[in-house]
Amino acid sequence: MARKSSSTESNEIDAVDLISLLSMPENGDSYEIELSVPEQDIDLIALGKEELALAKPPVPISASVSKTIPTTLTTQTKTVAKPQQTQTKTVNVLTPIQGFENDSFDQIRKDISVCQQCGLCKTRKNVVPGVGNEHAKLVLIGEAPGADEDIQGIPFVGKAGKHLDKILAAAGFKKEELYICNILKCRPPNNRDPNLAEMKVCTPFLQRQLALIKPKLIGCLGNISAHYVISPSIPGITRIRGQWFDSIFGIPTFAMYHPSYLIRSESREKGSPNWQMWQDIRALKAKYDSL
Ligand code: SF4
Repeated sequence: MARKSSSTESNEIDAVDLISLLSMPENGDSYEIELSVPEQDIDLIALGKEELALAKPPVPISASVSKTIPTTLTTQTKTVAKPQQTQTKTVNVLTPIQGFENDSFDQIRKDISVCQQCGLCKTRKNVVPGVGNEHAKLVLIGEAPGADEDIQGIPFVGKAGKHLDKILAAAGFKKEELYICNILKCRPPNNRDPNLAEMKVCTPFLQRQLALIKPKLIGCLGNISAHYVISPSIPGITRIRGQWFDSIFGIPTFAMYHPSYLIRSESREKGSPNWQMWQDIRALKAKYDSL
């Protein structure tokens, strides 16, 4: 979603800037996909605090795990690898959506274009279903369209989207190989955050898209996307970016910053959000290339 920001030319960077100003990851191990459960979550489980354990702590996973595409929440038990132990944890994923055996992207677009399931249908200029390769191995998911996207009907075409394009290109991604969309297919007025009810009612469209694409990986762009797609109980994006999780779609999911956050920071110094994004996108590319 394109958010309001103090737009200046100096916010714009190109691929050369990314390559020259941001250092390489220090070692290949940073690309390792298996992660430890956050300490607080282990403590909660160890203490047997059922009400807290049910808060669905983030689940680190191996991206090699194959899952079914998920409209209702159900519970699956999976075994996840940890650096020094193996734990069985519960993961809530969506059940596969039924009744769309002969689905198509044209049909999804038609259904979205006439959708009136939430109030955003009254304020949208255009629906913004998604764009990209219908057989993509990687789907990038943001939260909702912004003003430019609402006008054009295409996701990530505003200033933040252009920034994302440069980051993807600098990391070696060909945009035409990817599929890019949002949880919501219509713009919330004044670029407000999507609310949970809107995201829930809109999710079947995303499920249908994922069921057709069958991606191996998902990249969540930003805090809202990550908290919806991965789990509402995960820490903020600044703590979980660059990590892999299971998700409600049953597809290995990587957490990253939203480009609208990145364009508000001019710094490219080590540790800055743009520097962190550079590490993350390269880690994602390495995983992508390993598929
Ligand atoms: S945001 Fe989703 S659920 Fe709401 S009107 Fe648009 S397509 Fe329908």
